[in-house]
Amino acid sequence: MAVSWTRHRFSGGMLALDTTNTVVLRGDAGRSFDRFDDPAEIARFAAAASGFRADELRGRVLAAPDPKAIAGRVLAIREATDRLMRRSVVEGVLATVDMPHFLNACADGLTASRERLSAEAPFGVESEPLAFEAALAVSALSLLSAGIMSRLRICPNCNWLFVDRSRNGSRLWCDMAVCGNRQKARRHYSRRKEEVVNG
Ligand SMILES: [Zn+2]
Repeated sequence: MAVSWTRHRFSGGMLALDTTNTVVLRGDAGRSFDRFDDPAEIARFAAAASGFRADELRGRVLAAPDPKAIAGRVLAIREATDRLMRRSVVEGVLATVDMPHFLNACADGLTASRERLSAEAPFGVESEPLAFEAALAVSALSLLSAGIMSRLRICPNCNWLFVDRSRNGSRLWCDMAVCGNRQKARRHYSRRKEEVVNG
């Protein structure tokens, strides 16, 4: 069944993080699954990201006209990004041992690209759509800044990576409306259960 690419699925706050979050429940071998198992979803994700990530992309539209052809490169960037950034959140350091793989994956995403990037237009200025794998590489590389890395978090409910842009840097959930509420409901339920058991 086709994935419905809702706003919640773009809770990562950056294209590269939203892409790592297309693997659901990472680390949970029994329940984890990959929303990009069907390469057609890469094209649909790119179209949705053009809207939800318009701020980061400065309005540049993304396209993946031949998702099957780019799937290998997209998944390589996605997995290398996840490994590098997840470890940086957990351990508080960037592991250079993970860097060559990450940089090579990003380089592969840019091989066919002829964009001209600038501070005002970090994803280029051309009027035609930007290749998704190139945009993904640029977004992933932009994670390597102290300002972003110090604000990377892992949602304790769903394991997604997200960037915390709250003023005091204390955001806990990828999406309060989804993961925050689920956790609240779970706490409520276990309290009720205790009451029943104890009472
Ligand atoms: Zn979450």
